Amino acid sequence: MTAPLQDTFGRTIRYLRISVTDRCDFRCVYCMAEHMSFLPKRDLLTLEELDRVASAFVDRGVRKLRITGGEPLVRRNVMSLFEGLSRHLEAGTLDELTLTTNGSQLGKYAQALADCGVKRVNVSLDTLDADTFKRITRWGDLARVMEGIEAAQKAGLKVKINMVALKDANQHEILPMLRFCHANGHELTLIETMPLGEIEADRTDQYLPLSTVRRNLEESLTLTDLPDSTGGPARYVRIEETGGRLGFITPLTHNFCESCNRVRLTCTGTLYLCLGQDHAVDLREPLRQSEGNEALNRAIDYGMVIKPKGHDFVIERRQASPAVSRHMSTTGG
Ligand code: SAM
Ligand code: SF4
Repeated sequence: MTAPLQDTFGRTIRYLRISVTDRCDFRCVYCMAEHMSFLPKRDLLTLEELDRVASAFVDRGVRKLRITGGEPLVRRNVMSLFEGLSRHLEAGTLDELTLTTNGSQLGKYAQALADCGVKRVNVSLDTLDADTFKRITRWGDLARVMEGIEAAQKAGLKVKINMVALKDANQHEILPMLRFCHANGHELTLIETMPLGEIEADRTDQYLPLSTVRRNLEESLTLTDLPDSTGGPARYVRIEETGGRLGFITPLTHNFCESCNRVRLTCTGTLYLCLGQDHAVDLREPLRQSEGNEALNRAIDYGMVIKPKGHDFVIERRQASPAVSRHMSTTGG
């Protein structure tokens, strides 16, 4: 193994997120504009190249890989990537191979994912109401996602639901969602909207601080803070009434960068060192330069040097433009 990855602030990088496509079969209002222009397919790293980069990171001590997008399960033949990467699980050099998905294709792939050693999936679900679901995702079909979630459970995958808290669109559905999740053995994590990429809607109209959500929940439930960390930015509470766990991802009301252990690879081979900053290194060129990984490792090392201390997201009326111009679907959520 070559040297483990440590940045200039002493943070060790153990977690790589890989966006395997910027395309998606939904158009969630907080994530994408309705008419998006996507990358030409020829610009994408092949699945073999994605495997090579991911494996180089595993060689450097990365213990967790998350496949995301866009919608990762719409990339053609994506299961071959999971199959390939599962060898690191078998070898004991990787602790976890997982994905974030909108659930639309889970009915088709849940069993195959479980067969590749995937143990948990994050499914994004912002509402349990079919009309609201259509309004938020524009193109999605709630029934299909629910079938996907059931298929995942049947295949033995643990399902975590990610719900973006939106001021008008789903604020009143947070409590029903919490009850649904905990009744069905799913964990729930709430996420604040982040100012990433141009969308049609006004983000200040969408933004709902989770501090407000927490206060509202405390009117009817007992929340006990938990010290748990899953290596991610979420903070957790136990809901005493249900016995289940609730996570809060609060990039805007609480900055969690000091413990950041992750970097993100786009489908074109750009390594972003922070979700909320533009610091990046191109890995495609060094990857294609030679069959060996020397140039690739040098580029990754450079990434460690420029990884910024943190993001500085703000959502305020004065600020018309997003914090970074790329969408979440490019960097991978
Ligand atoms: N398509 C997959 C999905 O929806 O789960 C994976 C990619 S999606 C970009 C990953 C996560 O990012 C989703 O949970 C989504 O809700 C969240 N997301 C997208 N845009 C966001 C934004 N501007 N602020 C906060 N979360 C966002
Ligand atoms: Fe697609 Fe996921 Fe973005 Fe929704 S959040 S548009 S499902 S990438």
